[in-house]
Formats: sequence, C-alpha cells, structure tokens
Amino acid sequence: MNIRTYKHHFISELTAHYDAIEAENFINLLLEDWLGLKRIDVATKPELEFSPEEKARFDSALDQLKQEVPIQYIIGSTHFYGFEFEVNPAVLIPRQETEELVDWIVKDWEFNGNPQILDIGTGSGCIAISVAKSLVDSKVSAIDVSFDALETAKRNAVRNEASVQFHLQDILQTKSLDHKYDIIVSNPPYVRNLEKHEIRKNVLEYEPHLALFVDDNDALVFYRKIAQLAIESLSENGSLYFEINQYLASETIEMLENIGYKSIELRKDLLG
Ligand code: GLN
Repeated sequence: MNIRTYKHHFISELTAHYDAIEAENFINLLLEDWLGLKRIDVATKPELEFSPEEKARFDSALDQLKQEVPIQYIIGSTHFYGFEFEVNPAVLIPRQETEELVDWIVKDWEFNGNPQILDIGTGSGCIAISVAKSLVDSKVSAIDVSFDALETAKRNAVRNEASVQFHLQDILQTKSLDHKYDIIVSNPPYVRNLEKHEIRKNVLEYEPHLALFVDDNDALVFYRKIAQLAIESLSENGSLYFEINQYLASETIEMLENIGYKSIELRKDLLG
C-alpha cells in the first residue's frame, strides 16, 4: 500500500482518540523509527509503498493506539535529557518534569568535584544514567524494588555507555544506606487514589501502578523513609532532590523540616 495514502488513513482513524497533531506525530514517529523515513520523504515520494509485513506492523500499532497504549511502549524507547532509553510496561515512561529535576542537579554540581550519587526507585534508569553521563566525574548507584525495572535500567546503562551500579533493593525495608552520598535523588510514587480521576487512560491502564500510586492515608511514605535514611548518610554539603506531588508541597516541606533538613528549596516545574 502507498505510504502517503496510509498516513492519511492512520490519522483519520485516530481522530476519535487524539487531536490531529498528536495523531500525525505518532505516525511520523513510527515511520521514522521503523522505516527510517523522514516526513519530507513521505511528502515528496508518492511512490513509496509498504511491504505486507510493514503494513501489518503499522495496523497493529494503529489498533494499540486506539486502545491508548502509549506510543513509547509501542516503539519501545523514548528520549530523555538527550539520551535514548528503552521503555516497557515494567517502567514508568520518563517525563519532562523529571528532565527538569536532572537539569537542576547537573547545574548544581557540574563544577563541583566528583559527587557520589544515589537514585532511589530508578525505574528505566533515566535519572541515574542522565546524571552519570552529564556529571562525568560522578559515581552513581541506583536501586529499585522491581527486578524487571532494574533489568531495563541495566540495559539502558549499556545502551548509553553509562557507568552505574544497580542493586535490587526495597527502600521501605532498608535500615540504613551503605555509605556517604553527595546527592540522593528520587522520583518515587506519589499519586493518591483520590487523584486517579486526573490520570489519563494511557497512563492508568498501561504504566506500572507500583511506580505511580501510594496509599491515600500515607502519601509521603517514600519521601519520609528516604529523608530519614538520607539525613544520616548525606555528606556535609550533600543534597537530597525529589520530584513531588503538586498538591503536597507544604506537607512535604513540613515533613522535611521536622526531620531536620535546612535550606529547603521548592521549584515549580514547567507544568506548574
Ligand atoms: N526514576 C524513574 C523516573 O523518574 C522512575 C520513577 C518511578 O517509577 N516512580 O522516571
């Protein structure tokens, strides 16, 4: 089948689910990732044809998109902080807000020696690997409770030629951290059940709930545990970095103050 014609068909089939720009982005991404075709190729070469296998593959992607499977899982990878990461349903898809967190760390530490870093709940490894690549003299460790996530993170470190030590570890069962760190960072689960209605189907039905949700009655469980462990093992000039729940900023700050943290800085990300 003619690819240019198929592209129109693909976009129109998705109009009930996505706006036209989103739908066009999806097909452009798939054409580029699977067939190496640039938009200009498709626009200027009407003779381009799919093989039957290619057509079947695109049809299957179309079906999945109608079910709102995230495009990143269909492609199997995504971009984050200038690097490419494998993603699959065992790991959260790296978010733009988290890139801002990584950038904050990199800006704070780029001229600041060779920091020892720990990323807690590393998922795809996006934070640990991006920081390791960007702070070349750093030493980075990362932990996660999910075996499948950790295996994904390890593959991502290989793919990006990053040196990160990975450990399978449940932070809630951890009594103390093994040594001193200059940077402890985490983007732990923080969505409460009462916020579930705000979460789109593509997230709710396909991304790992282990990575997203916490008990309504103890939404800061990960933050408190990490903060308690970190205060014992941060170096003198060390810092703890968190991505937080937008509705729980004052509770999070109060909890940190009670544990003994000083000079707490709260930043709004680009999504507010
Ligand atoms: N650290 C990973 C990320 O920021 C995973 C976070 C998570 O699963 N809660 O994407």
